[in-house]
Amino acid sequence: MATILDGKKQAAIIKQQIKEKIAVLPAGNVPHMVVVQVGDDPASTVYIRHKEKACAEVGIRFTHLLLPEAISQEALLAEIDRLNADAGVHGMLVQQPLPRHLDTDEVVERIARTKDVDCLHPYNAGLLAEGRCPLLPCTPAGIMELLAAQGINLAGKHCVIVGRSRIVGKPLAMLMLAQHATVTICHSRTADLAAHCRRADVVAMAVGIPRLLKADMLKPGAVVIDVGTNRVGDTLAGDVDFETVAPIASHITPVPGGVGPMTRAMLMKNTLSAAQQFLSFHTDIYKNPSIV
Ligand code: NAD
Repeated sequence: MATILDGKKQAAIIKQQIKEKIAVLPAGNVPHMVVVQVGDDPASTVYIRHKEKACAEVGIRFTHLLLPEAISQEALLAEIDRLNADAGVHGMLVQQPLPRHLDTDEVVERIARTKDVDCLHPYNAGLLAEGRCPLLPCTPAGIMELLAAQGINLAGKHCVIVGRSRIVGKPLAMLMLAQHATVTICHSRTADLAAHCRRADVVAMAVGIPRLLKADMLKPGAVVIDVGTNRVGDTLAGDVDFETVAPIASHITPVPGGVGPMTRAMLMKNTLSAAQQFLSFHTDIYKNPSIV
């Protein structure tokens, strides 16, 4: 039976470390995150409440900016400009999905890249591809921390990522590559998904189809990361058929309690990093006024 990669437990350890770092920041320098929500989609509201709770746990100031569903693109961009210019805001994100009349790409690109705690700005995605992004995308970074905490070294391993989204699949590939893995990305048009998965030392599922990965698609002893969060009736199911896969995998993340809590812990880490970078830059200005 596989070892469970307990994201809830690991996230608690990371949040405790963040809490201790925040507690010793100079007075008046509490990190501040703003989440912008457009409209009141119930699923988005639940995700935002989770973020708010995580912020409260570690001592990050949290602001939920709820904007009307019918807001224009110009008015939304003006709100982002205002938050960009506000020195008291260290991190921000715009909860997705946005209503259809809004241009999500333009909105994301408007966020100051130093405050982009979701790491979605194309500039940050570019830095990530070069292996030098100061803020890491939360879900992929959470997966990497979970693997590292278990002592799983990816160097020379074959990692198969199923899903090529810009929030999970693609950035996860960059992080695994940076850890010297050989990476295959599969997607909706991949021919013979099972054959690719069977060759993997590590399989990461980020698709959104409940229980897509079955035991007969896996090499015995492989590590299995399940990013999927799918509502099935009253329960949450992953993209992995846990019951049949867990007996043959070496390690596996549960759903819930695996990748999800790690994602929120990484958001806290990014917000602290953004605040620390802001503070160190401004401290440098005081020391050396010529750098502005
Ligand atoms: P997405 O919809 O943007 O992308 C899904 C990907 O799956 C696409 O790249 C598509 O090509 C691929 N795909 C679709 N059908 C496929 C098939 N039959 N075979 C192989 N690939 C297929 O999704 P996303 O935003 O990356 O999210 C994926 C899942 O992860 C969802 O269930 C989402 O809720 C979950 N998620 C969880 C967290 C977390 O923190 N736990 C974070 C982000 C996403």
